[in-house]
Amino acid sequence: MKRLSDIGTIKEILTKHGFTFSKALGQNFLINPTVCPRMAEASGAGEGVGVIEIGPGIGVLTNELCQLADKVVAIELDKRLLPVLDETLAEYDNVKIINADVLELDLKRLIAEEFPGIQVVVCANLPYYITSPVIMKLLEDKLPVSAVTVMVQKEAAQRICAPVGSRESGAVTVSVNYYAKAQMLFGVSAGSFMPAPKVDSAVLRLDILSEPPVKTDEKQFFRVIKAAFSQRRKVISNSLSSGLGMDKQSVNDLLNRAGVPANARAEALSLNDFAAIANCLK
Ligand code: SAM
Repeated sequence: MKRLSDIGTIKEILTKHGFTFSKALGQNFLINPTVCPRMAEASGAGEGVGVIEIGPGIGVLTNELCQLADKVVAIELDKRLLPVLDETLAEYDNVKIINADVLELDLKRLIAEEFPGIQVVVCANLPYYITSPVIMKLLEDKLPVSAVTVMVQKEAAQRICAPVGSRESGAVTVSVNYYAKAQMLFGVSAGSFMPAPKVDSAVLRLDILSEPPVKTDEKQFFRVIKAAFSQRRKVISNSLSSGLGMDKQSVNDLLNRAGVPANARAEALSLNDFAAIANCLK
């Protein structure tokens, strides 16, 4: 069959199916032929590996994944794409398309049913309107997945991959680092998509840790992170006081017990600092 990543082929398929892009569903399809093979390779898809893809679109990345992995399960919300995918993936018998909203799916169950006993990775060009919720769902659900390789907006990738304790870090940086080791892989220009978005993108990989790097009460830990970064320009004592609904004196006592300076800013704190505050709060 013709090369799927070729812009002429893509336009032909979309016209044939009368497909129009939905901005609301974050539909920017890849038209740069070098990106998908690189992403699929970097994801760890290979012999003995199952892949979950989120948002296959017309199947450009899916095609590459099917060539490498034992099995690919792709979750696509837009049912108008189902006949398109039937056509573009017709040559593969190791792919299954699930028409669902990824945020609503029980992924633990899906993995148990579709990939019994094999290693599973996630690989996706994510719809940008749900980047953080999807990444956090993949991590928080504690799925038996070894790595997550995703394309997101460049700024979001930089934030996620920033070192914890650096100016560029945010709540998502600390949260992701609790579950995984994040690594920026490569940038992708806005012109690599149809239609072209306003901003550039980047591919990052999260290698899931077998154990969290700090011992803590998870509920309090994430509560503290959320409160700490809710007003990132303020010192930690102020942001925790408003974010946790505690008076100033109690917050200062808490920080003192945790060994964290009251005038530090959230972005300067380490995972250990957040864990210490959460543990003292408990
Ligand atoms: N993988 C294709 C590519 O790289 O060309 C398409 C990527 S496009 C950025 C995002 C895809 O996610 C679209 O196909 C869109 O319909 C789908 N999508 C949007 N929201 C979704 C959701 N909640 N669950 C599953 N798929 C979704």
